[in-house]
This record gives sequence, structure tokens and C-alpha cells, in this order.
Amino acid sequence: MSRRGVAILGSTGSVGRSALAVLSRHADRFQVVALAAHQNASELAAQVARFNPRMAVLVTGNGDRTWRSGREALLEAAVHPDADVVINAVVGAAGLEATLAALHAGKRLALANKESLVAGGPLVLDALQTGGGELIPIDSEHSAILQCLGASAASELKRLILTASGGPFRTLDVEQLAQVTPEQALRHPTWDMGAKITIDSATMANKALEVIEAHFLFGLPYDRIDAVVHPQSIIHSMVEFQDGSVLAQMGFPTMEMPILYALTHPERWADDSARSFDPVAARNLTFEAVDQLRFPAFVLGVHAGRTGGTMPAVFNAANEVAVAGFLAGDLPFTGIAAVIESALATHRPAAVDCLDTVLAADREARETAHEALKEKC
Ligand code: NDP
Ligand code: MG
Repeated sequence: MSRRGVAILGSTGSVGRSALAVLSRHADRFQVVALAAHQNASELAAQVARFNPRMAVLVTGNGDRTWRSGREALLEAAVHPDADVVINAVVGAAGLEATLAALHAGKRLALANKESLVAGGPLVLDALQTGGGELIPIDSEHSAILQCLGASAASELKRLILTASGGPFRTLDVEQLAQVTPEQALRHPTWDMGAKITIDSATMANKALEVIEAHFLFGLPYDRIDAVVHPQSIIHSMVEFQDGSVLAQMGFPTMEMPILYALTHPERWADDSARSFDPVAARNLTFEAVDQLRFPAFVLGVHAGRTGGTMPAVFNAANEVAVAGFLAGDLPFTGIAAVIESALATHRPAAVDCLDTVLAADREARETAHEALKEKC
């Protein structure tokens, strides 16, 4: 059997490295054909030495190796002729064009980069249809939903319930949120992830991004997509059916399972490294409503999703700027939602008809967010 070619965009990140760990255990069936990173040359060099891809990209590179550099090279990796599957594990809206390119080229896109779906949802669905490829989520909640859906008909589906850990500040006094440091916010209770998504989990902007992601992936209106806090991160999400039955997908938290499933769907392959589930070790599973006062970024994001058009792109871009500002020490934690709110308030949403519309909204939101950030620091 010939091995399926895999390209990994964002290979040096948290999801990228987990993907390589998964692929190395399944080297008899998959072959890494392209690797792309942004600026981490030493990690990329180690990966190239180990996996010997046909193409390596360092977006910010200066051409001093056999590697390619620049944004165009990232897009070339996304459509590499030897890649059957493209894993998009880039962080942020910077991944949007690669998402579109891979889908236009008819690839199976294993998508971790939820920001691309949030910013350009209608364009992504259009590229999926035009290219005839596949869009399979890596995000654990959406992988859970995909697994729960199985072969059921869309008409049997009633509601999606996304679970959220609630992050490190779930029980902190709301008054103290203004004082939390990046170091505290980066200490996630259940998941080990890249910096941006870890902060998004602490504000729950991540769950708003995921509600929007679910809307586009599964085609449900927003009033049929709920979120619930589940601090143990054992149930990765649930699907409620029309007859009242609810299916949940569970397991100890690891991204390697949803990554493997995105590669093998609709099949399941044996994975020697999978930790056997032990309900006794999982102990109590608890659930709480999302506290809207504690997590204003979640409320803003879901509202942006409901408004539609370019609003989700603006929410995402402003959040990216605000998170970078918080990590740089230029903005208090509570300033993240305030910056997002400023960008949303000044934006006049337009229909997402082409890439330029999304990129213009993204640019405008970043400018507004930078202005708001300067005022709030
Ligand atoms: P990381 O920050 O750990 O990694 C990001 C990767 O993207 C790195 O390889 C980085 O390269 C690369 N990158 C950054 N900017 C660019 C750019 N402009 N062009 C090309 N490549 C770029 O992020 P994560 O792995 O945590 O997250 C990746 C995506 O997956 C995000 O969208 C996140 O929301 C999603 N996700 C992550 C989960 C997790 O467990 N981490 C879980 C579910 C979803 P370099 O290292 O060279 O800077
Ligand atoms: Mg998730």
C-alpha cells in the first residue's frame, strides 16, 4: 500500500509537534512530505533531519538553506502535489490563505487553525465545495462532535454542546482578574498548548471561536450550539439528538487522539500510545454554566458570530492583537475584552464575498485594536 503524503503547516508549534509524534507512530501508512514554520529555525532543522520532507518552509527565512521562505512558499506547501492530507496548525488568521489553498486543491484539510474558519467561514465552505476536498477538524471539541455524529442524518440532530475547561481563572474573584499576569494565565489546568490559545482559554474567547467554528463545520444555527464549563476536560463535547438522546465523546485530554482521527476518519486505527481510559481515575465529572461576567470575551465572540458577515473576522483579529498586547505586558487581562469590544463597536459588517473583504476587515480591526490598546495601557 502506498503511503499517504502529509504536509504540516505550523509544524514547530504545539499541535504541529503532536502531529509529528502521531505520524512517527504510523510511518508505515503516512509520509511527511512538507513542513512549514514561521521563525523557529532550530526546531524546523531538527524536524527536517528526522522526517526528510520534500519541501521545508521557514516563512521568515532568508534563503540561506535549501528551505523555501515567504508567504507564497507556505501556500505552495499547502498545495504540494505529494500531499494527500494538509494539517493546518498555524496560529491565527495568518492561516486563512493556506486553508483556502489546500481546499481549492482538493486536499483533506485536517484543521487545527480555527481562526481561518472564524475569519473566512463562507469562503472556506466555498473552497471545500469547489475543490471537492475534505475538511476534518482537529480541535478536540469538534472532533468529538464529528465522532458522536457518526452516520446520523442532519435532521436527527438537535443541539451541539461544546465543553470548556473554564481555564485557570474559573474560580478566582472577578475583582482580581485585572491583576493576573501572563505567567498565571499561561498555566492551563488541563491542556498544554501554544501561548495564544492558552490565553484564549483563560478569557474563553477560545470557546466563542469554537462556537463559530462549529456553526460553519456542522451547519447549525447559533441557537442550537451551546457551551458548558466542564473543568476536568474528560468529555470533549456532546451531541443531543431529536429523540432526547445525548452522545458524548470522552478520554483523558490529549491532542494526539483528535489529530490521529483527523487523519484516519471515518476509520479508527490502533494507536499503541493511547492511554487506556479509567473512569475511576477520571473521578467526578462536573458542569457549570458559562459565567458571562467573568468571561465577557466569550459573550462578545458569540455575538459577533450571530451578527455574521465580517464580524467574526473582526472579533478574531482584535483578539489576536489584544492577546499579543497582554502577553507583552502592555494590557491588563481584563483589557483583552475591552479591546475586542472597541473593534467590534466601530466595525460596519459586510458580507463575506471574497478574500479581500475578509483581509480588509482583519486589517481595520487590527488598527482599531492597536489604538484601543494604546489608550488602555
Ligand atoms: P503554537 O503557537 O504552539 O504554534 C503555532 C505554529 O504556527 C508554529 O509552528 C509557528 O511557527 C507557526 N506560525 C505562527 N505564525 C505563522 C505565520 N504567520 N505563518 C506560518 N506559520 C506561522 O500554536 P498551537 O499549536 O497551540 O496552535 C495552532 C493552532 O491550533 C491554533 O489555531 C490553535 O487555536 C489550534 N489549536 C491548538 C490546540 C493545542 O492543543 N495547542 C488545540 C486545538 C486547537 P514558529 O514556531 O516558527 O513560530
Ligand atoms: Mg478546542
